[in-house]
Amino acid sequence: MSNRQLALITGASSGIGREFAKSLAKSGYDIIAVARRRELLESLASELQVFGADTKVVVADLSTSVGVQSVIGEASNVDFLILNAGITRAARVGSTSGDEITKLNTLLATGVVEVCEAIVPKMMQRKMGSVVIVSSIAAFTPMPKSALYAAAKSYVTSYGRSLNLEVRKSGVRVCVVCPGYVRTELHQQAGLTHLRERVPKWLWIEPDDVVKAALRGLRKNKSVVVPGAVYRLARPFLGSGVAQTVWQRTTRRR
Ligand code: NDP
Repeated sequence: MSNRQLALITGASSGIGREFAKSLAKSGYDIIAVARRRELLESLASELQVFGADTKVVVADLSTSVGVQSVIGEASNVDFLILNAGITRAARVGSTSGDEITKLNTLLATGVVEVCEAIVPKMMQRKMGSVVIVSSIAAFTPMPKSALYAAAKSYVTSYGRSLNLEVRKSGVRVCVVCPGYVRTELHQQAGLTHLRERVPKWLWIEPDDVVKAALRGLRKNKSVVVPGAVYRLARPFLGSGVAQTVWQRTTRRR
């Protein structure tokens, strides 16, 4: 690696994580790119060469504790940590095994927290560092048939908000970004391709919108940011019964 700053990005093989990698490589970071699909990470590494970035490919399954530990091992000296890897899951109550629940929670919630608990104190010692946790608007509104996903996103959102206040005077910044619908592979991977048609076009944002909102949030030291004007306007009302009915009709998960 060169003397550029160093960013580790989980879920860098596609979607929002890949966009973070391009944006940070462009602004002078070397990248540690983590995900399961090696070939996509290697193609990312070639793409980032154009920005002069060195990219280290780390293949890890972050729904396992071995995968989480490998990220902790790689992240000890990073300046920027983007905890983004995730899947969504549509499942009625009772249809998810204990093992699947553990894996989902490790990937979306407890693994993210474990990495922060290991790496943020090191950043505090150096009096510098940035952390982005990619959560979801699901942290603010109930999601029938996706309760496990919503619960995991609430957990990391709550953790990140508290962490931001705890460390903000130490030179370390923590920002939780809570997107609504973003055009990525997420829904297709979960068998929810119908949402592409069902959810109105004006509710979809691009991965780049998420990256820009997160970087702006970090600059302003905000604990939580919601990308996209529509979502920002709707956020205060997401707890109301009317908003929840409209939201659930529009985004029904079969
Ligand atoms: P994508 O499916 O495009 O990307 C998900 C990324 O996570 C991929 O790089 C995937 O890589 C990685 N990943 C998934 N499972 C694992 C695993 N077990 N171990 C390691 N890496 C894994 O979706 P998005 O870019 O949309 O998702 C990124 C984040 O954004 C997620 O946390 C998601 O919850 C959140 N989000 C997305 C929204 C959307 O509408 N798209 C809305 C709100 C939040 P690989 O398969 O190679 O392992």
